[in-house]
Amino acid sequence: MKTLLVSLDSKFIHSNLAIRYLKSYCADCFDMDTKEFTINQKIELITDQIFSTKAELICFSCYIWNIEFINDIIYILKTANPKLKILLGGPEVSYDIKAFMRNNPLIDFIIYGEGEISLREFLIAIRDNKDLSTVNGLAYRIPKQDNAELNDLQASIEDDLIIINKARDINYDLDVLAFPYDYEEKDLMQVNDANRIIYYESSRGCPFRCAFCMSSIDKSVRTFSLERVKRDLLILLKTKARQIKFVDRTFNADYKRAMQIMQFIVENNSQYMSIHFEITADIINDEFLEFLKLMPVNMFQFEIGVQSTNEQTLCEINRKTNFERLIYVVNRIKEYKNIHMHLDLIAGLPYEDYESFKLSFNKIHNLYADKLQLGFLKVLKGTKIYENTDVHDIKYSKKAPYEIIRNKYISYEEILKLKNIEELVDRYYNEKYFYNTIMFIMKSFYNDNAFEFYEEFSHYWKRNNLYLAMHNRKKLYEIIYDFAKNKGILTSEFVDNLLYDFVSSNEKEELLSIFDKTNEESLREIKKVIAKNEEFRFKYFGIQDMNYRIINDFRLVKITDDIILFVYKDKENIFERCKSYRINEFLESIEYKEEY
Ligand code: SF4
Repeated sequence: MKTLLVSLDSKFIHSNLAIRYLKSYCADCFDMDTKEFTINQKIELITDQIFSTKAELICFSCYIWNIEFINDIIYILKTANPKLKILLGGPEVSYDIKAFMRNNPLIDFIIYGEGEISLREFLIAIRDNKDLSTVNGLAYRIPKQDNAELNDLQASIEDDLIIINKARDINYDLDVLAFPYDYEEKDLMQVNDANRIIYYESSRGCPFRCAFCMSSIDKSVRTFSLERVKRDLLILLKTKARQIKFVDRTFNADYKRAMQIMQFIVENNSQYMSIHFEITADIINDEFLEFLKLMPVNMFQFEIGVQSTNEQTLCEINRKTNFERLIYVVNRIKEYKNIHMHLDLIAGLPYEDYESFKLSFNKIHNLYADKLQLGFLKVLKGTKIYENTDVHDIKYSKKAPYEIIRNKYISYEEILKLKNIEELVDRYYNEKYFYNTIMFIMKSFYNDNAFEFYEEFSHYWKRNNLYLAMHNRKKLYEIIYDFAKNKGILTSEFVDNLLYDFVSSNEKEELLSIFDKTNEESLREIKKVIAKNEEFRFKYFGIQDMNYRIINDFRLVKITDDIILFVYKDKENIFERCKSYRINEFLESIEYKEEY
């Protein structure tokens, strides 16, 4: 049976690991291909591409972000050709299977749990006309009438028999799964794109049991052998992709193995690709910390799930967090200035009301990690939270992504306020374009109560209908300026910080009208002189060749009585997008005469 594996990613830069694993495990025996789309593409384009393969079995990789779209596609495919067989797999269809198949009569098969071995056995059973009940990890439908047309099929769903076979035993050696990326053919083209993120896993399962997370359902952590991981990484590190994102649920569950993998990457990452890991911070010991201190700048990113700091909440969601250690670890890594850290919080958890969330937010925001990501509880089938929705009176959207609407502790109105705050944290904090301004505001006017600032700023956005429009980054500088003016905190120090942020993040943009435009103009002559000064060129650019033009590679701005030199570096490196120097003494040393 000609088989097509289809994925619908949420963005073009993503790539689906699951269909690649399935293909590499099954394609030696079966006529099989993959097609990868995004949920932003036109449905007709997708159905056209699927039909053109003439596949008889279409398999979809299902997640909360694509299941609704997949249902729409299946409806069109089956309506056009009722003989087509549809198979679904992935976390979104691995729980409540009977109800799911009853509610979705056009689905013929589901493979639940890990799919590689189950799909292969399923295809063998179909090919050899064997009894499907022997295929573990498979659910299937026995329709009332075998060759029913669509309307008959819909009419007969109550009488369909849904069979769910035994779950697959996943205690097998992961190394039997072949390397998922097909380097000989079209995959090479895709992952070689500089915008692409390559997903990769060196282990499956998580040692923790967080009540909201589907990874808590797997009872064990299994790893690919270190030799295998190294072999795979050698290939992936040679591509031109933007980033390798490890999907290991807790990459540092075994810290010695984590160190070995990271060390191997450092030794073989000649293109300096960015590598992303999800880690648990409070289990990082001093040995690992010392190791991290030696890591190159901006090669690694850590995503650290904190979720809440409310003890009752953490206990209810089965998270035991040693906060003292977490804070210590985050502060140490921050001091190293080499690893990019994202901290995650979730709103809508049990026992976390609005006031309690404020405390969690402030505690985590005030660690000043590189990013603070606010997520909203998603009630996923198979999790403890899903089982306990009545206990906490959790109401959530009926369709994927099943996000919280309200619960016993937090109202919908409060959730909406947090959504508005999340948008501002993302725009003003996470990209570091306003770093000095935000720090200044927090320290000078809000006594480090970050939540109060974002809440007030968010009211300002709402009052002025700012959420209703799109704003480019230049406009964001003007908005925060107007907010400060409105609140009566528009001091010269505030403007200096904003100017500093603007110039360090904008190599070419003219100064905005909110700044004194003559500032930069008055330094134009100095700029021309020092750009030709040998000592200046060597000191700040390390350049000796006098023919190399640097005039457009730096800016000079006056901030209070200081002349600040901004030298632009690597835009992607938030630790070093731009370096700034106070050059008053340098100007005196070269006896620059002109008044400035
Ligand atoms: S939230 Fe993270 S640590 Fe907790 S079970 Fe899921 S993957 Fe594991």
